[in-house]
Amino acid sequence: MVVDRPRENAICEVVSDSLDAWGWSEGADLPASAYIHIPFCHHRCGYCNFTLLANRSDLYDRFLDALEKELSGLLISRPVQTVFLGGGTPSILPPPQSIRLLAMLGRWLPITSRSNSDRDKVAKYLTEFSIEANPLDVTTDFCKRCKDHGIDRVSIGGQSFQPNKLQHLERDHSPADLRRAIETAKEHFNRVSVDLIFGAPGETLEDWCCDLDAVIAAEIDHVSTYGLTYEKGAKFWSLRKKGILDPVSEESELMMYEEAIDRLTCAGFEHYEVSNFSKPGEECIHNQAYWEGRPWWAFGPSAARFVGNRRSVNHRGTIEYMKRIESDRSPIEESEDLDEDQRLRERFVFGMRQRKGVSWDDWKVSGPASTVDFIDGLIQQHIENGWMQRVGGRVALTRRGLMVSDSLWSEYL
Ligand code: SF4
Repeated sequence: MVVDRPRENAICEVVSDSLDAWGWSEGADLPASAYIHIPFCHHRCGYCNFTLLANRSDLYDRFLDALEKELSGLLISRPVQTVFLGGGTPSILPPPQSIRLLAMLGRWLPITSRSNSDRDKVAKYLTEFSIEANPLDVTTDFCKRCKDHGIDRVSIGGQSFQPNKLQHLERDHSPADLRRAIETAKEHFNRVSVDLIFGAPGETLEDWCCDLDAVIAAEIDHVSTYGLTYEKGAKFWSLRKKGILDPVSEESELMMYEEAIDRLTCAGFEHYEVSNFSKPGEECIHNQAYWEGRPWWAFGPSAARFVGNRRSVNHRGTIEYMKRIESDRSPIEESEDLDEDQRLRERFVFGMRQRKGVSWDDWKVSGPASTVDFIDGLIQQHIENGWMQRVGGRVALTRRGLMVSDSLWSEYL
């Protein structure tokens, strides 16, 4: 593989032992995917506890300095097949900063098709460069800038097409903003995804059906649906504790999830992962690295990576992340080397999020016998419960299993 040495500058002097700290050593597989966390939003939505700072445009340049220094730990440019710009709201960066970000990613993590795996021989896309966007940011200028720098997939944080629900969720955009953003994105990109939330306080099944019908009518090729969760640290968590917010019942939430599966699959989407639906061939290939247990790089505050045999995660606080890098300290907050037992258990659990399940018969030959016996026993039990099924050499969730899957995984880990 030919790699270019990025241009030298003062910023590149530090973090010279990052590769070691991330878990990579000469000869090991290089990750083919990279996640970049951009920790800024216009404001913080009530349900969100992600790592981000709201309304802090004064920190954009300082953050990019830190990010560039962290990327310089790669030492040379490391070609990847997929990059995912998430957050936060990566689309928030104004043109000078977003051009700087995209140029530095092009330098350190150029996107190149390099694999010849069986999957890639039949895949519709060999590479992918995704950006998450707030509907308010999706303008013609934004799309052109993204395209000029190789971005080929936009994931819009829509959440709902209904004004009341958007208001309850404390989103800063209207249904009209979302529709306009989708149309603008479709004019520039073949690959457009929209996120939707269900189970907002006060939401009825009819409300949710309206959202599903609206996203189907938008004629996009990828939809992600998430049940609203009440996370510690988010405003909604304390409002719920005080009895001010009344969550929808578990039964209603399950009905909404089932409705999403029925309506979207009826409209030609494939339900390829617990929360994700795509038209044939339009699956997000970046996320498949997580689900299939392949390694990935990650940069930015709270970013979690899997390199070599090591999982590591950066400090969650954006200010602390920047301070550590500015003073030549590692931003890594925690890391753990996985042994064969942990690796097989995790790989199984992440892989089972995919509707096609996992090639368990192939995987288990490489695992420790005691772990394989343990997982085999649980699989058998969950097949008898009607939650899992064997298809050829694969094991996958049944539809009934999907409804209880969140409660199953702790048994395997
Ligand atoms: S939900 Fe999305 S847009 Fe809202 S604060 Fe969280 S990351 Fe930002």
